[in-house]
Parts: sequence; C-alpha cells; structure tokens
Amino acid sequence: MTNQVQPIFILPEGTQRTTGRSAQKNNIMAAKLVAETVRTTLGPKGMDKMIVDSMGDVIVTNDGVTILKEIQVEHPAAKMMVEIAKTQEDEVGDGTTTAVVLAGEFLKNAEALIDQNVHPTVIARGYRLAEHRAQEVLLKMAEDVSEKDEASLKKIATTAMTGKGAENAKDSLADLTVKAVRAVLERQENRSFIDKENIKLEKKVGASVEDSELIEGIVLDKERVHSGMPASVKNAKIALVDSAIEIKNTEIDAKIQITDPSQLQMFLDQEEKMIRDKVNYVVKSGANVLICQKGIDDIAQHFLAKAGVYAVRRAKKSDMDALARATGAKLVTNLKDLSASDLGRAGVVEEVRVGDEQMTYVKECKNPKAVTILIRGGTEHVVDEVKRAMEDAIGDVAAALSNGKVVAGAGAPEIELGRELRKYAQGLSGREQLAVHAFADAMDIIPRTLAENAGLDPIDVLTELKAQHDKGGKWIGIDVFTGKPMDAWKRGVIEPLKIKTQAVSSAAEVAVMILRIDDVIAGSGSKEAPKMPNPGDMDM
Ligand code: ADP
Ligand code: MG
Repeated sequence: MTNQVQPIFILPEGTQRTTGRSAQKNNIMAAKLVAETVRTTLGPKGMDKMIVDSMGDVIVTNDGVTILKEIQVEHPAAKMMVEIAKTQEDEVGDGTTTAVVLAGEFLKNAEALIDQNVHPTVIARGYRLAEHRAQEVLLKMAEDVSEKDEASLKKIATTAMTGKGAENAKDSLADLTVKAVRAVLERQENRSFIDKENIKLEKKVGASVEDSELIEGIVLDKERVHSGMPASVKNAKIALVDSAIEIKNTEIDAKIQITDPSQLQMFLDQEEKMIRDKVNYVVKSGANVLICQKGIDDIAQHFLAKAGVYAVRRAKKSDMDALARATGAKLVTNLKDLSASDLGRAGVVEEVRVGDEQMTYVKECKNPKAVTILIRGGTEHVVDEVKRAMEDAIGDVAAALSNGKVVAGAGAPEIELGRELRKYAQGLSGREQLAVHAFADAMDIIPRTLAENAGLDPIDVLTELKAQHDKGGKWIGIDVFTGKPMDAWKRGVIEPLKIKTQAVSSAAEVAVMILRIDDVIAGSGSKEAPKMPNPGDMDM
C-alpha cells in the first residue's frame, strides 16, 4: 500500500453522516416508532398515556398531538412526524393520531418496496398519484351538512369525544359544543366562517363534568382584589392595563437616611401620591372596571375601591387578548395615556361564586360572538383532558360547518379509499402500480388499529368490512363494542371531511419527503445527530 491516496475531508470533523439505504432505513424506523407510540390510543377503545415531564408533572391523555408534544423526540425524521400532528391540530384540531399512524404505515409499506428494489423516487411518484386520487374519492363520498342540521352537528361532537376523558358526559358536552360554535358562527356570502378564538375554554376543578356550562361572554378565573369594590357593575367600561399599579421597586438597593420624623411622613406621603395619581388616571378615563395584567398594590386597591371600580389583578395574557376582542378595549401600558376611547364595553361585569371560589364574568359584551365554556370536573387531570376533548369537538364541528362536508367514521372511509385506490392502480403501469397498491393497503391501518385496540381479531374484521364494501356499503365500519360491522352513518359516527383529507395529504407529504432523503448530515454541534438504531445491520 505505497500509493495510498490522501483522504479528502469536505465536512468538518465530528460531522455524522449516513447515506443511501442505511439513511433511509434509519429515517423510516424512527418514523415508524413515532407512529407505534400513538397507535394504541386510536379510537373509542384506545388506551391513555401517562406522561411525566421534566418537572415531574403528570399528564394523562389520549390525544395524539399532546403526547407527541410532551415526549421530546430527538431524531430528525421523528420530528417531521411530530410536525404532521401539529399541522393536523392547527388545520382541524382533531385526527392527529390518524394522521401520524397513516404516515407510519405509508413508510412501512414503502420500505417493503425498497427491499424489492423499487426506487424511492418511483414510490414517491406513485404515492403522489394515489394521494391525488384519494382526495377525489373522499370528496365524492362525502355528504353535506349545514348549520341547521343540529342533530348531525351533535353527532360530530359526540364522535370526537368518544373514548376520551369526556366520555361520560359527552351528551351534555356535545350540546355545549354545538351551541358555542353556532354562537360564534358568521356567514360570509353563503359560507360559514368560525373563529375558534372566540370560544374560550376555562377550567374550574370541583363539581362534575356534567356541570360544565356555556356562558355568553368571557369568564376569568379571578376575583376582585378588594371586598370594598362593587361585586357587580352594570354598563361596564373596561380598562385593560398591562403594567403594574404599584411603586416600582428600585433596581438598586437605595438607602434613604431619615433624620427626623417629618421626613419619614413626607416620604410616605410622596409614595401615596404617586399611587393615587395612577388610580386617578383610571378613574378620569371613566372606567368602572380595571383588568390589570400585573400587580395592584394594597394602597391602590383601597383607592380603587373608594372610587367604586371593580378591579382584577394578574390576569393572563390570553385573557387580556380575549377581553380586548370581546369588549373592544385597547390594551394600555402607560396609565397616563388611558382615555375614554381605550375602554371596552360590556353590559355587566360581576363576581360569581363557582364551587368554593370566585370568578369574574364579563357578560353582554360589545362583540356578542364571544363565549366561554366553563369546564368542571373532579380533578385537575380530568378537567385538562376534558378540555382537550372539547377542543377536538369544537374543531370538528367548526371544520364540518366551514367546509359543509362530512363523512362517517369507524374505519369506513379508509376501507372505501383502499378499495377505490386498488381499482385505480389497475390502470397504471408496472412499478407505480405497486406503489399505489402499497398506499391503498396502508389505509387498512385505521380499521385494523380500531379493531386491535378493542381486542378484536383484525383479520376477521378487515375481511368482513371489505366484503361489505364490495357489496356497496360505503359507510360500513366497525362496531368496536361488538366486533361486528355496522353502518357508521346510521349509528351517528360522523366526522368532518376535513379530518380525512388533511390527514391523508399531510401523511403522504411527509412520507414522500422522508423517502426522498438518502443522505443525513449532522454537524458536530447539532444535538440532533441521528442515532443508529442498529449499526450491525447497515447494508453499505
Ligand atoms: P384522532 O386523534 O385521530 O382523532 P381518536 O382517538 O379520536 O384519534 O380516534 C379517531 C378514530 O376513532 C376515527 O377513525 C373515528 O372514526 C373512530 N371512532 C370514533 N367514534 C367511534 C365509534 N363510536 N365507533 C367506532 N369508531 C369510532
Ligand atoms: Mg379524535
């Protein structure tokens, strides 16, 4: 070995690099692991996960995106999978597990084709064709829904909550969901438009989930700061202030030397005057309600009470924003600038006793399209999980109304998609046909998982469902309680079309993206250096 060639380094030292098949296998394995993690939570019989975060806080949840946000994945391909769940959450609010599980299955089936020497770019092209066709099939099979169709809307909300922490009270919660969404609905040229931001979800531990209620207006988990203040203010003029109403602590420790008692009095008087000035700015603006994002000091509380102002301190930023939207108030930082035109309007602001605690209700707001659902439940974990289930339900009802289309669930649309895509594959040539078939077969993962999670035999279930679909029963899905096929439409298992179209498109998109990667280069500074799952089976 005398004429050994000097090695050339084009990447800095410490860079990790995997290429070709092993990069692909690696990425696919990471993606499949993510899908496997959330798979057991899918459907009415799905299990929950208990997550303990770095602070030791415990979350018990069945919600795909919550699980993925809480567990901290490191692998870059796994992170891309988590992104699908987040996209689904942003676009629809529900169907996060479905989207991730689908993506995992797309990749698993692609891996089998890669092993048969089908090139990843061919698979990617086939997947794109299949995805396009899937969208057409879904749109064709969907049914119409409108805001007048209250019964269907309730079924959508109920379907979203089945199997979640909200299960026991799902009828009354479905009712609240539909009422809330209809309250904030706006019509724009024959189209319904829903701003979910207008529905505030507030939690209060105590009572039972059934005691949850809908309030027209904004509810703050805050009491008035001083008992001398009025407990109820009619024709409220509301000031929103995001700076403290107290004497600022000096940054540096200042020492004041006082030599005779009158000086001390002067000093205290001066402090009091500064606070009184601040309160005067509020009163002069004409406000009779003050919501402050920061602290309100004792002396200020006293002066505010004397002036008959209802005041709340340390309100959450999100509450300030909700109040600004609902009452038309402008957020003011510098009290000197506060004027009548900055004030928001509400018919009444009052303190209401909820359980053992007081809350502030802001009702008859200037913008009537602002509502709060006050979620009750026995423990913190319960109200948290009910809140997540309600968010899914609100997202579903809103998505159904804004797009006007719904499908039945329980695996029915996925079986139908698989069937139609296999037919479509017949007309394609060679290897693309294989890819479309792989995509079609991947759709089975949803009904299969619903069956597995219910402790049923997935092969029996799938065979039975496919036979029924061949006979034209497009809404035949699985009854997870009996294991028998059922007409999911008639049984009221209804979901917005958007869940399915979004899940299929983002799952396909990520699968294609991961398939097309054949080189992973991680800089030495990167914490995201992909770990080899099994260095032994690298095939390079
Ligand atoms: P995701 O995060 O994807 O929404 P879920 O755990 O909410 O996951 O499960 C959704 C799946 O459960 C959908 O495929 C839906 O059709 C199905 N499903 C919901 N209710 C029922 C039911 N009563 N019977 C059978 N399947 C149902
Ligand atoms: Mg769901």
